[in-house]
Amino acid sequence: MPASFDEKKLFELFSGLVSTDSPTYGERQQADKLKALLTELGFEVTEDSAGERLGGTAGNLYGILKGTDPAREPVLFSSHLDTVSPALGKRTVLHEDGTVTSGGDTVLGADDAAGLVEILEGVRSAISSGRPYGDIEVLLPVAEEVYTKGSKLFDLSRIRSKTAYVLDMSGNIGSAAIKAPSIISFKAEVKGRASHSGFAPEKGINALAAASRAIADTPQGRLDEETTFNIGTLTSGEASNIVPERVALTGEARGFDHEKALAAVLSFKEALEREAQELGASVSFEHTVEVKAYSVAEDAEVTKRFLSAAERIGIKGRTVTTHGGSDNHTLTAGGINGIVLSCGMYNVHSVNEYTKLPELAKGAALVRELILGKAGGI
Ligand SMILES: [Zn+2]
Repeated sequence: MPASFDEKKLFELFSGLVSTDSPTYGERQQADKLKALLTELGFEVTEDSAGERLGGTAGNLYGILKGTDPAREPVLFSSHLDTVSPALGKRTVLHEDGTVTSGGDTVLGADDAAGLVEILEGVRSAISSGRPYGDIEVLLPVAEEVYTKGSKLFDLSRIRSKTAYVLDMSGNIGSAAIKAPSIISFKAEVKGRASHSGFAPEKGINALAAASRAIADTPQGRLDEETTFNIGTLTSGEASNIVPERVALTGEARGFDHEKALAAVLSFKEALEREAQELGASVSFEHTVEVKAYSVAEDAEVTKRFLSAAERIGIKGRTVTTHGGSDNHTLTAGGINGIVLSCGMYNVHSVNEYTKLPELAKGAALVRELILGKAGGI
């Protein structure tokens, strides 16, 4: 049976991480804290130069802990250091039933401190079990919340594990995302010509009219079972009596089929160019593949290991599909078999975010079992 975890201790550790400010690009204090905690567990920890390159205060942390059984394959765990806004002055409020909320004016930061706590305590428990384990690697990236900019800068050739677990998904312990979409963002500008709309409308070229026609021509929302498309922002115009000269707009497509998501973006680009040309306006358009779709097999080793570990802690593991980006996109793009685990965080990216201590305990137990594997062998 898995070891039990002291909820009071989990709460103290979690509170300590939550009360450390760690906004994206301002992860310094949290990185120092994690460095100390990992070192205390026996990890050899290094920090890369992602902080300087991104204009942030800290880089990605990488740690390795030598296993006691060199015959075993190494395994990697990952949770990110940064939190979304409102991120400053976070604190925990513990409720009678073990629910932990924020003070109400910030996010809680269980995204991703819940994952950090589960990794730390899961590793601690595995070490003290006295049972054999292989090398354990951890990757704690900065700037995950901005399309995984931190992990993208990490030198993946340093990672020895072929198997990875990224603890960064909402919900009770027991779900694992094995499939995630491409996310392709874009920004466009339509340029026409300004003119007084009362005295000389003929001299103007209405950029807003061109953009509006293109938007009206383009399907949005869920395009099919695996593709979504959205125009998220549009700004235009100077005054009610001036023909609008410029339109700036941004949006994104997501899709489990990368080519289809890309086609949706390019088809909007063509619509913009067509409508702009008709009115004599011009278009500049730029798209970025933020993360690329991946899919891990149901019967892959990494998935089976998760399902078996879940069973050993008394829960039924299940595989799901996510629509979000995570550092697992970076890992899979680098040839590492990773899946994303739910880690007991809820209502993330809002001031109503919360976690539950019993779920943190289950998450730590799951990490422990993922490290130890089945008694007597993998
Ligand atoms: Zn997250």
